[in-house]
Amino acid sequence: MPHRIKISIKGAVQGVGFRPFIYKLAKSLNLKGYVSNTNEGVVIEAEGNENFLQEFILKINSEKPPISIIQKLKTEKLPLNNFREFEIRKSRLKGYPDTIMFPDIATCPECLKEIFDKKNRRYLYPFTNCTNCGPRYSIIESLPYDRARTTMKAFQMCGECKGEYDDPTNRRFHAQPNACPVCGPHMELWDKKGNVIESHLNALLSSVNFIKEGKIIAVKGLGGFHFFADALNPDVIERLRIRKRREEKPFALMYPDILSVKRDCEVSEKEEELLISVRCPIVLLKKKKGCSASDTAAPKNPDLGIMIPYTPLHHIIMRYLKTPVVATSGNLSEEPICTDENEALSRLNGIADFFLVHNRPIYRHVDDSIARIVMNNNVILRRSRGYAPMPVLTENPQGKNIISVGGHLKNTIAVSNVSGIFISQHIGDLESIESYNSFRNTIRKFTEVYKINPETVICDTHPDYISSKYAKENFKNVISVQHHVSHIFSVIAENDISMPVLGVAWDGAGYGDDKTVWGGEFIAIDNMGYSRKAHLKKFPLPGGASAFKDIYKTAFGLLYEIFGEGLFEIIPGISGRKEYGILANMVKKNINSPPCSSAGRLFDAIAFITGVRKTAGFEGQAAMELEFLTEGLNSEDSYDIELKRTNDMIVLDWENLLRGVIEDTKNNLNLKIISLKFHNSLVNAIVRTAEKIDIQNVALTGGCFQNKYLLENSIRGLKENGFNVFWNREVPANDGGISLGQIAYYSYYGNKKI
Ligand code: ZN
Ligand code: ZN
Ligand code: FE
Repeated sequence: MPHRIKISIKGAVQGVGFRPFIYKLAKSLNLKGYVSNTNEGVVIEAEGNENFLQEFILKINSEKPPISIIQKLKTEKLPLNNFREFEIRKSRLKGYPDTIMFPDIATCPECLKEIFDKKNRRYLYPFTNCTNCGPRYSIIESLPYDRARTTMKAFQMCGECKGEYDDPTNRRFHAQPNACPVCGPHMELWDKKGNVIESHLNALLSSVNFIKEGKIIAVKGLGGFHFFADALNPDVIERLRIRKRREEKPFALMYPDILSVKRDCEVSEKEEELLISVRCPIVLLKKKKGCSASDTAAPKNPDLGIMIPYTPLHHIIMRYLKTPVVATSGNLSEEPICTDENEALSRLNGIADFFLVHNRPIYRHVDDSIARIVMNNNVILRRSRGYAPMPVLTENPQGKNIISVGGHLKNTIAVSNVSGIFISQHIGDLESIESYNSFRNTIRKFTEVYKINPETVICDTHPDYISSKYAKENFKNVISVQHHVSHIFSVIAENDISMPVLGVAWDGAGYGDDKTVWGGEFIAIDNMGYSRKAHLKKFPLPGGASAFKDIYKTAFGLLYEIFGEGLFEIIPGISGRKEYGILANMVKKNINSPPCSSAGRLFDAIAFITGVRKTAGFEGQAAMELEFLTEGLNSEDSYDIELKRTNDMIVLDWENLLRGVIEDTKNNLNLKIISLKFHNSLVNAIVRTAEKIDIQNVALTGGCFQNKYLLENSIRGLKENGFNVFWNREVPANDGGISLGQIAYYSYYGNKKI
């Protein structure tokens, strides 16, 4: 006696070969009926033997395509319909498309085999893809996911491609970006004026030769442009740094394959897994001695950010090149990555010698993601290609129709609907008009695709953030959330932590509720709201925001707090007296010298005082170099940080630490040991403060916890003392996680006034 059931699946199930998977599974179990995409996900009706139907449901869960996510699977019994066969039906288009969009997926092993198979019709074709791999998020204009709603709509499939597309047994069945040399996009190599020098395969091969000759090539890839340059050639890297105005910030590298990566870097099993995963991020790896890549790619850095090719285009270039390249985003300094070839000609002119371009439009810019392994876990430092816009699913009730606009640096935005919280790709620092436009475009495209007509918009409490101003100027119901509270909620959301929670939010700067600069915060969170329980002792920050590059100003503020004018005797001759006179005046008269309790700034000041750096080229550079000094050392030594309780607040007083650092520096103690002692004192202070506050669940967050030594040792120290410890993994601990935290905060408290 046959039965008929209807299965409704909600989740990330479109565009990953889910329907062909269902089709094959149904056929193998001799079931009749159909499968179809809906705005919610996938709907299946199946008729057949009861045991087979049960097996069907089990296997949907256990054998589903690797990157699909089933959020909800609902079955209902229906009267028999006597289906004749099992078929894939056309998408239904009603209701709201709140289904999940997929990220761009790295080339699968089968496609890779084809592009290097001389007999295959896709031999060396750079746009080869299938339902298991290829572009998604970067080409999707709207949902549901179908070719007509992607930037592939301009390309008409040839007979052979259409045959694959229509054949349910084929790996390219309904592969929306399906293409081949006959019908798909193609490459061209342009000179600086946009003249076509070569096309198709020759464009790739000439680019390879130019790279070998020391030229800089702007390469249009999946989510935007890269600059490619020979990673073994310090001269071309130097030239790229000057032209791109990026003096010291590390460049990412692309290696031909995992074997070549292993020759230059230590690669653990977990790191290898991440490197070759479908998400294929840049992974931070420890350089080996004798590493072939030029030191100028990542000066003074023990790590290299490395990825392997993730599109056929990159695979082909790297196969011919055989050596690593610098593969840094195609932009000027902190501007957003460039996505259009004609725009590239003007924006990237003066940087690139040639332009390797193609005619598949990029609908959204998507940078490379950056990740690393911390205590055997993947930790994402920049969440973009391969991850965005996968939702963070939380158990907490979701608010509908909400946008959060994020912070100021490393900006991302997020929206929330019934399916989850969707975080945008990395947008960047909102410092230039280009970034601001990219920020607005991302909001527009995100709200369009998810059909969000926001009831509420959430921003940071900082009144001067461009993102906050944008929210207030463009929307009615705007709620602002304190910066560090957002950081903490990003951890709460991705780990589903139960309340109460002690958040340790340490970063460079955030606007505090008392209008001072916060950044070394311990904040308790419960069902009623939040309260600040402890913070680093404050010091003046002469020059305000400018201090994060001019770290001597920060050091001055820190020293002044303890020694007053006496500091001139303590650290003589570090800069002209004149400048210091000005700073002293500013601090004394309280001119543009906001008090700050920032841990990031404390790192900067210590880096300056110990002589690690005099200035920083980018935020966090000095702190990073201080961290790198801890490499390979082991010691429990530390300085003293006193915990002083006043009323309901604990202040972490770093005065003895500062005196200790100065003393050790004067005595020429090895810098590495000073750095280690400094790090250990912070770890100890975190553990002791947590013990005093005494909340079981501790969330570590904020940019400072990108510091591996600080993060790992804080986790260890807290765990040893019986705490449950949580930290950011899915979203960055830096301000890239703020947008998630803002929405999570709102879904937690709703309209309740906190
Ligand atoms: Zn494939
Ligand atoms: Zn074709
Ligand atoms: Fe922050």
